[in-house]
Amino acid sequence: MDLLLKGMVKDEPILVVGLIDTDTVEKARVIHDTYPTATAALGRVISGSILLSSILKYGQKVVLQVAGDGPLRGIVAETDWLCRVRGYIKRPHIHLGLKEGKLDVGRGIGKGFLNVLKDLGLREYYRGIVPLQTGEIATDIAYYLNVSEQIPAAVSLGVFIDSDNSVKASGGFMIHTLPNLEDEIIGFLERKLKEIPPVSTMILNGLSPKEIMEEAVGLPVEISESKEVLYHCPCTKDRVLDSIIVLGRKDIEELVIKGEVLNVQCEFCKKEYVVSQEELSSILHYFVSHN
Ligand SMILES: [Zn+2]
Repeated sequence: MDLLLKGMVKDEPILVVGLIDTDTVEKARVIHDTYPTATAALGRVISGSILLSSILKYGQKVVLQVAGDGPLRGIVAETDWLCRVRGYIKRPHIHLGLKEGKLDVGRGIGKGFLNVLKDLGLREYYRGIVPLQTGEIATDIAYYLNVSEQIPAAVSLGVFIDSDNSVKASGGFMIHTLPNLEDEIIGFLERKLKEIPPVSTMILNGLSPKEIMEEAVGLPVEISESKEVLYHCPCTKDRVLDSIIVLGRKDIEELVIKGEVLNVQCEFCKKEYVVSQEELSSILHYFVSHN
């Protein structure tokens, strides 16, 4: 079972979040038929959005979007407060060579921006945007948290892909230091982060999310919250109908005149919806009555 855990270092103002989402990222790989570099990039963005969801409150949702000039182009993942996540990548069939034995996500993404949109409920939104630092995602999210939300944070993400291209391990952790932390402890955390093995290695070695969190900070962690992570797409026919309004009046008029139906696919789960002539006509009426 994929899990997101939240906890505090015992007797220190350090918040730690740990995640294993191997099954979720494997599900995303199967849905989107991604090649290894694309799988790793999509997996890291999915994991990043799940880590960011740890700062949400009841009913809220976070959308993490990465857009770059590299061959992968863009990736989106969104997670709600219940840890239900969905995502997609613009160019799933991309595989680049390895860089120092690792999948070269940074080159796949290239230069660009990281966007975070938080749906806070009651039509209230928060938006933050920062330029990508490395395109490796984890450092970019840490930079976003530091610059945009004034949260001093360290983030680590890892996806390990098996020889058959399936996802064998995926997860990550995030460390927030709260005010009044002694310099000595900050130095200790920084040294610790340089020493520890990659998070994908820890997962392959069978560590639990809590053990990963304790390995990351080198101190005992008290868990305060545990949530199951699931790949879930809440798309419905109604939302699909809403989304085709952006096609504009002219295109819809054309379909109605030709007597054609419209096939629309949800980009997050690949579910197909057929929009009938009657539905297209009623959307056309919407345009007529709003102009
Ligand atoms: Zn869907």
